[in-house]
Amino acid sequence: MNHLSRWLSFKVDLRDFERSHAVFRFALKVAFSAVLTSFALSLLIIPLSYRLGLLTGGLHEVVTLSVIYSWLIGGAIAGSMALVMGRVIRQLSLSRARFERLSRTDMLSGLLNRRAFSELLASGEENASLAIFDLDRFKSINDCHGHLAGDAVIRSVAAAIREVFGAPHVAARLGGEEFGVVIRGSDAAERLALAERVRQRIADQTVVYEGIAISTTISVGVAEFGERRGEAVYSAADRALYLAKAAGRNRVVHEGELALSFNRDSGDAAVSAKSEPPAMAAVS
Ligand code: GH3
Ligand code: MG
Ligand code: MG
Repeated sequence: MNHLSRWLSFKVDLRDFERSHAVFRFALKVAFSAVLTSFALSLLIIPLSYRLGLLTGGLHEVVTLSVIYSWLIGGAIAGSMALVMGRVIRQLSLSRARFERLSRTDMLSGLLNRRAFSELLASGEENASLAIFDLDRFKSINDCHGHLAGDAVIRSVAAAIREVFGAPHVAARLGGEEFGVVIRGSDAAERLALAERVRQRIADQTVVYEGIAISTTISVGVAEFGERRGEAVYSAADRALYLAKAAGRNRVVHEGELALSFNRDSGDAAVSAKSEPPAMAAVS
């Protein structure tokens, strides 16, 4: 009985309707409920009608007709209406899912956008690094070759990032010529090596736009999530990126190097184990 009432429950989760078979299940439920209800009502009405003298046929004949009408007419009408309703709900849920996906996607690169990425950063990560990639002297590409050429470069950099950082990593375009990647799994050195692989790939490739070959490089700042999340880990990676730019661009800098450079500047060679950058692992 419990199972039946659970099956008959009309609690609607729009996401269910993204699968077409959910529409038929919904229609079946509505038809079944309509039949049961009309049958129960018949059982109440028939004796009453007899008492009031409204029914003259035999009881057996009336009950049989009532069952047939409940199933054939009630079930068919309720089922068909539910099918139409279910299809409408399905269209709504599909367009909602599409809208949700679009609202989290950067149109130029096809990667996640900043809003979706910020939500991800806010929830924190275990065993992961945050890398921020920023194209070097990108403004000069726009100035020399035009904004559309700049867009083509952004798309090609996004493609290189997507290629290296498939699942379980998550990549986003944060705006302009800046990208963020949550690099997951393995150890910090291997995660750093993946960032280095992208840097190398971008330095090696050229984008051909309207017959002109355009080369570019990228600077990368990397920080470890550890216990941090959101703004805290982002600003650590951003400081590392700033150091990469200051150190000449086209390089990957780990946040650990911030402490190293600070200590170097202050003449203090001691570096805490926590801030030490991981030794770069070889990446094939
Ligand atoms: P740096 O090496 O210090 O990062 O120099 P940069 O020139 O890359 O940095 P800057 O922030 O000065 O320039 C970024 C430029 O990116 C400025 C802006 O016009 C351009 N930009 C921002 N969004 C887009 C976009 O969607 N398409 C194109 N083509 N250009 C964009
Ligand atoms: Mg830049
Ligand atoms: Mg920038």
